[in-house]
Amino acid sequence: MPQHLRNKIQNWVFDLDNTIYPAASGIQHQVDERMPHYIMRQFGLDYDAAREIQKDFYYRYGTTLSGLVQEHKIDPWHYWDYIFDIDYAALKHDLALREVLALLPGRKFIFTNSPHTHAQKVLANLGIAEFFSGVFDLTAAELISKPDPAPYAKMLAQFAIDPKTALFMDDVARNLVPAHKLGMTTVYLERPTHATDDAIHGVDAEISAYVDYQTDDMLGFLQNILA
Ligand SMILES: [Mg+2]
Repeated sequence: MPQHLRNKIQNWVFDLDNTIYPAASGIQHQVDERMPHYIMRQFGLDYDAAREIQKDFYYRYGTTLSGLVQEHKIDPWHYWDYIFDIDYAALKHDLALREVLALLPGRKFIFTNSPHTHAQKVLANLGIAEFFSGVFDLTAAELISKPDPAPYAKMLAQFAIDPKTALFMDDVARNLVPAHKLGMTTVYLERPTHATDDAIHGVDAEISAYVDYQTDDMLGFLQNILA
C-alpha cells in the first residue's frame, strides 16, 4: 500500500490527458479522432494512410505532433487549433479530486505532451486549476515529447523539483521510464480504453522494472496515500 508516500513525496506530477480526467469523458478520444483527419487534409491522403502515419509518429516521437514538426516542419499551432477544436462540456467540476488535491501535502504539477491552452481548459472545467503550481506543456518542452528524456530533466529544473521527492503518474507506461531513471516514484495509471495502439501504452517485461505502482483508480490511489 502506498501510505508511506505521504512522507516521501513533496512534488506530485501528473500527466494531463486520460490521467487527470477519466478516459470515459471522451476528451482524449475526440482529439485522437481528429488527428488522422488533420493528416488527411494536410497531405491529401485517405484515412488508412493517414492513420498509419499518425501511429508511426506517435510510436517514434512520443506524439504525432513531434513527428509532423520534425519531418514536415508543421506549425504546431496550426495542428493544435485543429485537433483541440473539441467539445469540453463532458468535463465537469470534480469535487472528489479537488478534495484530494487540497489534502495532498506539497506542490502539484501537470507534465503534458499537449499545449498549455488545452491544459488550461481541462483544469478549468475540472475546477482544479488553483491546486497546480505549474504546467509543463509541449511548448515548454520545445516540442520534444515524452518519453524522450529531455523534457523530464527540463521540467524538474524549471520547477526546482528534487526527483527523489517526486511522484509521476501517467496512463502511458513507457512515459514512466525516464522519470524512474531520474529517481522519481512512478505510477502507471491503467486505463480501460485507448484510441491509439494498446501495445504502445501497456507494461511489457522491459518497462515493468520502471513501474513502482500500478492502479486503475487514480482517485483511490491518492486517497489511500492520505488514509
Ligand atoms: Mg495521457
